Amino acid sequence: MIIATTIEDVRCAVRAWKQEGLTVGLVPTMGYLHEGHASLVDAAVASCDRVVTSDFVNPTQFAPGEDLESYPRDFDHDCALLEEHGCDLVFYPSVDEMYPDGGGTTDTYVEILNNMPKQLCGKTRPIHFRGVCTVVSKLFNIVTPDKAFFGQKDAQQLAVIRKMVRDLLYGIEIVGCPIVREADGLAKSSRNTYLNPEERKAALVLSQAVRLGESMVAEGEANADEVVRAMTELIQAEPLARIDYVEAVDGVTMENVSVVKAPTLFAMAVYIGTTRLIDNFSVEA
Ligand code: AMP
Repeated sequence: MIIATTIEDVRCAVRAWKQEGLTVGLVPTMGYLHEGHASLVDAAVASCDRVVTSDFVNPTQFAPGEDLESYPRDFDHDCALLEEHGCDLVFYPSVDEMYPDGGGTTDTYVEILNNMPKQLCGKTRPIHFRGVCTVVSKLFNIVTPDKAFFGQKDAQQLAVIRKMVRDLLYGIEIVGCPIVREADGLAKSSRNTYLNPEERKAALVLSQAVRLGESMVAEGEANADEVVRAMTELIQAEPLARIDYVEAVDGVTMENVSVVKAPTLFAMAVYIGTTRLIDNFSVEA
């Protein structure tokens, strides 16, 4: 596996692959990789000739006071996992490589101006999706992939990226991959490492709420507010949990819905202690 820290080295490797007629898949990550990330690499390896994974904690998607400095990092472990899953190149740039003005700041952003990035996570993280779109655009410009792989775990991010790709005419296929969970149901997340043992147990309310919502929908509940109410009550019964949001939205536009109908997305963000966790499920057609 090639370890590239400069944009030029990535471009050089991709150029050579493309000259051979090979297809390229991109898996953007912030590192501290787990089996959720590995599932994206597996999907990329299965459908592309060469796979690039980016490992970069992107400063512009964190607001002051969020966990940019404390975000967990372990590049040696990331490399071992990527190698094991057949990744061909890991892109591990410095902040200055990605933001040439220095200090992780930029004068140029990619931002969706409709309501979509203001909903759900955007209510408490108003600059988050602008940072995500900006860094993913940069990665698209560097890697020029045929396909890019994102997790359904970050369902709003996936919807925002699909919208950006459509609006900016990126000729890149966006592939959404299912949520990978721990054996007890907790969605795998780099941030799970922040949880102490008591919080780790309490965090199960998220996946329990997902299962409750899924079963209500499976049994025919068509009133989205009823599903949200039941999920909310379940989470509120856990003393260590504090709800940021539990909502039902259209899975494409992120606008609130009150009738359950594909592609409804039930999404939540919940603080367990000081750790903010997200989870969701989608109603498929
Ligand atoms: P992150 O490193 O948290 O920015 O995540 C990088 C990519 O991995 C995003 O597309 C996430 O949606 C995806 N991802 C993170 N956790 C999971 C999971 N548990 N299952 C599936 N995909 C995930």
